[in-house]
Amino acid sequence: MITNQQAVTLKDLGLPENYYLSVNGQLVSSEKTFDVFNPATGQVIYKAPDASVEQLEDAINAAAAAFKRWSITPWGQRAELIEVFADSLEKRKEQLTTLLTFEQGKPLHSQARFEVDYAISWVREIAKRQLPARVIEDTPEHTVEVHYTPLGIVGAITPWNYPVLLALWKIAPCLLTGNTMVVKPSPYTPLTSLLIGEIAQNVFPKGVLNIVSGGNHLGQIMTEHPAIAKISFTGSSATGQKVMASGASNLKRLTLELGGNDAAIVLPDADWRPLVKTLFWAAFGNSGQWCVAVKRLYVHSSIHAEFTAALVDYAKSVKVGDGMSPDTELGPVQNRMQYEKLQDLLQDTRAEGYKIAVGGTVDASASGYFVPVTIVDNPPESSRIVQEEPFGPVLPVIAYDDVDEVIDRVNASPYGLGGSVWGKDRDAAVAVAKRMETGTVWVNEIHVHGVDMPFGGHKLSGLGVENGVEGLAGFTNTKTYMFKK
Ligand code: NAD
Repeated sequence: MITNQQAVTLKDLGLPENYYLSVNGQLVSSEKTFDVFNPATGQVIYKAPDASVEQLEDAINAAAAAFKRWSITPWGQRAELIEVFADSLEKRKEQLTTLLTFEQGKPLHSQARFEVDYAISWVREIAKRQLPARVIEDTPEHTVEVHYTPLGIVGAITPWNYPVLLALWKIAPCLLTGNTMVVKPSPYTPLTSLLIGEIAQNVFPKGVLNIVSGGNHLGQIMTEHPAIAKISFTGSSATGQKVMASGASNLKRLTLELGGNDAAIVLPDADWRPLVKTLFWAAFGNSGQWCVAVKRLYVHSSIHAEFTAALVDYAKSVKVGDGMSPDTELGPVQNRMQYEKLQDLLQDTRAEGYKIAVGGTVDASASGYFVPVTIVDNPPESSRIVQEEPFGPVLPVIAYDDVDEVIDRVNASPYGLGGSVWGKDRDAAVAVAKRMETGTVWVNEIHVHGVDMPFGGHKLSGLGVENGVEGLAGFTNTKTYMFKK
């Protein structure tokens, strides 16, 4: 059995020992490297290629050259290659899953397996989608049609919480619609994306999909680059704002999937006991590092005390540990920056004297970036723990008396990604859901996603959507044809 104390290597885990940039169909290394860590131990697991600016330029030039043929390759042929890509990913899925746990920290047997399986099934499903031209008018005099044409080169910039899923959410629809790509993964979790790039080079023509790892500056260069037509970005709202500002130079198309501070509202009539487990995992799954994790849990004051006590009891039963261990249910947080950010938030919570019902103190002497499951009992609305996106295993459970007033509190957030409402009277719950200012809202269920369901945020949570017809269309220009008969 592998423990935290052993310096586990890629080789020990049966993983490839070398990872490369994918540029113009070639696997290339780079002069400089940067460290990639195992978050469960804090140990360096690999020195990843730190692409030079010239290598990024090579990738952009390769994507530009490949676009000429790829954009006119028939839709059906592109779809077939995306299916082959899904098959190729499937063959390497054990490696992808283990590598995901090794660099990201999430439990191998549950959340890592789910992410990889789900992402591959997504690629397969996307390959079946169409974006046909629409006939707007067809009279004896003329015809008007709207066609969806590829944009050119798309730059994808991804975060570290779901590195496999979020890269593939961008790659599959982008290539299907006839664009070529340069993907830059987060420097915290580059390895799974580099492996995906390697797998793709045996499937797609050279230059169609290029993957470059390196620092944040590469992302910034991509957002400013005149040859890149669109940036598909998932990350924090602060970086999203920078992406938008620097994309203005050539009026880049943008899809920005950004931060959230999702509220769940438990109404007074809710059958709350079965919700305890559901809402625990909705908040703490992937150790809370989830854009649509429940980050503010509002429970009616008539049931708040009992609900919180049951949630705390459940939290105490959940095993936090190294994601490689079969009994681990929650892994560490992914990186030192996030670990320190969470410690600062917990320090503030303690200093303000808010009631911590469970967790609250990090054992800094332990190896790895472990933050205990923390539930804060009824902190004030103005507290940092309620107002900020923790992006970690820390949850405020807030009592409220009046439904109208709690909707105002929920909507006062600058974020508007997702939200959920829980209650026995379905119509009353739907009425609350309709008033929530978010891109997605769930009633008596949560975190249902689908290839055909547009997903995006309102307000500071984003711009545009991924998935659905709208998401596919987001990788295209609309072109209106008018033919005189
Ligand atoms: P981040 O913004 O720090 O980094 C995201 C990516 O942007 C990384 O690849 C990074 O290298 C790159 N980057 C950094 N500075 C850049 C710049 N100036 N120009 C261009 N690119 C730059 O975000 P993160 O910490 O990796 O991810 C966590 C955040 O992502 C959270 O706020 C979370 O809510 C959000 N998120 C949103 C969604 C969604 O779908 N809405 C999904 C997952 C994560």
